[in-house]
Amino acid sequence: MHDVIIVGAGPAGATLGRELARCGMNVVILEKAYLPRYKPCAGGLPVRTLYLLDVDIIPVVERAVYSVVLSQGCAEQITLRSPHPLLYTVMRDRFDAFLVEQAKAAGAQVVEGLAVERVAVDGERVWVTAGGEDWPARIVVGADGAFSVVTRSLGLMQGVPFSMAIEGEFNVSRSTLAAWEEAVALDLGTLPGSYGWLFPKQRYLSIGVGGFHRRGRELKAYYQAFLAAGLGHAPHHLRYRSGHILPHRQPGMAIQRGPVLLLGDAAGLVDPWSGEGIYYAIRSARLAAPVIQAALEQNEVDLRPYEQAVDAELMPDLLTARVCGWIYRWCPGLFMRLARREGPAWRALCMLMQKGTAYARLRARIRPLDLLVRWMNKTNRR
Ligand SMILES: Cc1cc2nc3c(=O)[nH]c(=O)nc-3n(C[C@H](O)[C@H](O)[C@H](O)COP(=O)(O)OP(=O)(O)OC[C@H]3O[C@@H](n4cnc5c(N)ncnc54)[C@H](O)[C@@H]3O)c2cc1C
Repeated sequence: MHDVIIVGAGPAGATLGRELARCGMNVVILEKAYLPRYKPCAGGLPVRTLYLLDVDIIPVVERAVYSVVLSQGCAEQITLRSPHPLLYTVMRDRFDAFLVEQAKAAGAQVVEGLAVERVAVDGERVWVTAGGEDWPARIVVGADGAFSVVTRSLGLMQGVPFSMAIEGEFNVSRSTLAAWEEAVALDLGTLPGSYGWLFPKQRYLSIGVGGFHRRGRELKAYYQAFLAAGLGHAPHHLRYRSGHILPHRQPGMAIQRGPVLLLGDAAGLVDPWSGEGIYYAIRSARLAAPVIQAALEQNEVDLRPYEQAVDAELMPDLLTARVCGWIYRWCPGLFMRLARREGPAWRALCMLMQKGTAYARLRARIRPLDLLVRWMNKTNRR
């Protein structure tokens, strides 16, 4: 019997596996794919993400980004530049495999190519069914992404709202790659509540759009328009293209039940404005680790402090992002106007990327926003 079984070896699962193994726990990560595996993702890691990881990720960084090219309606461009990096880009196959190697080096067991089918709680044990076998554990962690089997097995996150993203990786000429070496493109306000992005990698450009899942057809048309504007007549070859969903936890939605808890996308911990989730996946793992450690030292497993920690540490920022998303939806041009000449919106974006305190500072400066977020975090409680 394992102390902890983690389902899924994305950033959330790998980070938790590493943290727990380092404390000497008997932990296994079950991953349905063979690593490295492709994952549709722009692969943008805001600089603040690096502060969370006490490993040097430079070996898997593709590009350091200093500039943002802003457009509206796929036209009208302004370029803003920061003297310091705003974000780093990674290919998720290499980045995730790198984090898994760190977990293995710390002593975590990793089983690849094994899809978990079901999770069931039975008294003090949890049973994980995978590959026709039942694996017993004291604690099970669902880090298995947006379509989490763990979540569904326990009936958690029912009715969680989703946003949607479409993304492709494009092989382009060296000169086109060089033009985007240190810059990302963001297209704002073309489709209400949606935006388009172009992120540079060493061999590809990741180009995508994201927005409300109700607007799937419009999102596809927007994607075509954004691609045409971004790539123009430059020769290109599509390597991957897929659509994906991003779940967004509502305040009070349970992300823990008995000896089972959820991390990252499985828990809906994704910024509802930007769709950014790697930072929150890693942070949720780091919040879970001490709670799991304490629970295993006691006779009775109590994982409620994890949910309380997420409510206290992550939800205020995710709810602030939601309010920013509403404002962006109603006044899509506002951000563009405030960003011009490196205005307040640009300074806020730099702070959001480089420091982990941007949303908190926004709440500290705008009292009604702070009150609204506190109210949202308290209402909707079970
Ligand atoms: C198009 C797109 C672009 C994005 N761009 C960014 C970005 O630029 N920056 C950013 O921060 N975030 C971005 N995100 C969000 C980000 O990808 C996720 O928030 C992040 O991957 C969450 O990490 P995770 O570890 O929770 O889950 P995942 O990374 O989804 O990992 C889950 C793992 O579980 C495995 N798994 C699933 N089911 C099972 C099963 N039944 N049994 C065993 N294993 C299983 C999967 O194979 C996978 O390896 C983007 C998302 C999309 C869709």
